[in-house]
Amino acid sequence: MSETKLNLIAGNWAAGESETENRNPSDLSDLVGMFAQASTQQLQDTLDQAQVAQVEWAAYGLERKQSVLMNIGNELMARSEELGALLSREEGKPLAEGKGEVYRAGQFFTYYAAECLRQLGENADSVRAGVEIDVRREAVGVVAIISPWNFPTATASWKIAPALCYGNAVVWKPANITPASAVALAEIIAKQDIPKGLFSLVMGSGRSIGQQLVESPKVNAISFTGSVPVGKGIATAAIQNLTKVQMEMGSKNALAVMDDADLDLAVSLALGGAFGGTGQKCTASSRLVVHHAVHDSFVEKLVAGTKAMKVGHALKAGTQMGPVVSQQQLDENLAYVDLGLSEGAELACGGTRLEMPHEGFYMSPGVFLNTTNDMRINREEMFAPLTSVIKVGSYDEALSVVNDTKFGLTSGIVTQSLARSTHFRRHARTGVVTVNLPTAGTDYHVPFGGRGDSSYGPREQGKSAAEFYTTVKTAYISAGTPS
Ligand code: NDP
Repeated sequence: MSETKLNLIAGNWAAGESETENRNPSDLSDLVGMFAQASTQQLQDTLDQAQVAQVEWAAYGLERKQSVLMNIGNELMARSEELGALLSREEGKPLAEGKGEVYRAGQFFTYYAAECLRQLGENADSVRAGVEIDVRREAVGVVAIISPWNFPTATASWKIAPALCYGNAVVWKPANITPASAVALAEIIAKQDIPKGLFSLVMGSGRSIGQQLVESPKVNAISFTGSVPVGKGIATAAIQNLTKVQMEMGSKNALAVMDDADLDLAVSLALGGAFGGTGQKCTASSRLVVHHAVHDSFVEKLVAGTKAMKVGHALKAGTQMGPVVSQQQLDENLAYVDLGLSEGAELACGGTRLEMPHEGFYMSPGVFLNTTNDMRINREEMFAPLTSVIKVGSYDEALSVVNDTKFGLTSGIVTQSLARSTHFRRHARTGVVTVNLPTAGTDYHVPFGGRGDSSYGPREQGKSAAEFYTTVKTAYISAGTPS
């Protein structure tokens, strides 16, 4: 029996009121570990201590804070091989993606380490004679971070790093099906030169401990990534305490392929965008909006590429697509395949359960053809290795289909026309837009977020993160006349 991994409560590693087991979705006989589930009392204790620790942390010198964040980032990058393998083992993404994610998580910390020294305010003269104004940002206080399983280390890091950089305490509730990556990150943070209880790990189910966390008046701000229904529930809870909230949720991203596109590039962008991370990305290319002039040749190459994808154990060399994360996700994905067929779409390939030497949650990547944008498979986030081709007659129609969604996270165009790419970049109603690049895959030093049902509240990442993790103070100073 493996040793139970603990929560970090008020600065101490603590067993919970119960524990949960975590299994490898590539091989269900592989027990990743047992993980403590925090109690209500532990949540209260850690929130109380976080309030105390936050005041101490905010008063740390800038270089001391910078060094903490730099150490975390450097350790993540140095251990990306080992921690990436752990991530892939519990989440199911291929090893290269797991390693890449942990390395990227490190970069969030080193980026925000540098930001510790770049916190400049503004100053102004008052409209009143002899009065000066100083505008600066201060920490919000205690931040609750609720993160998903699909990028268990990166998403948490792009929230935790700016929260700490700007002087806040963090209480982190990770997704309950990727706890091993959470414990690994928490262990790195806990050993730094930080006040006791500045950073807490409260593993447990979203519906119980997560809900209690977002309802707590001791929390000053909540940053969430996950599904739209849970996001709406969190916003409802947050407003009761007037708690600041930031949410990144689902999407239905479109990649438009024009008649002048480099078709090999378009196909490789579509394959990577649709099936990277087993399609379980908020930035996945789940709608492929294709000009009729290149539709048939694009589809031929796309289906051939999809059929050629190697599905297998996440840790096995050569695997291009791992299993989906859970039985529940697999059931939902297969239900979407049935739904697409019942709506009249043609399934060109894939979309079926796969049997492997190890029992796991495997399915083949699927491509729907002859779809229309009003089908549910083109309106709802499936979070599956499934993509739909929508044929259009012109650039104008492509843009209108891309924008015809309640979501708005990312969109992309594949074209060699400067005029079309410029027009698309200016008129796509998404928070991120790409030209001849995948809809998935963004940098860490610039804003990330969407429109519509995809996001709510200030943008994440880059300098924009300061908007959420700080509050502005305007000081008026009358210095008087020197004697
Ligand atoms: P959820 O939105 O349920 O979970 C995201 C996070 O919120 C997890 O940490 C979860 O904890 C927590 N949570 C759940 N309920 C509450 C609550 N009432 N109060 C506070 N926290 C809560 O997503 P799922 O993991 O269930 O995935 C379902 C679907 O959501 C996916 O199929 C996909 O469509 C979408 N999704 C989108 C993501 C994105 O990046 N946009 C990421 C993940 C999911 P716990 O794990 O314990 O339930």
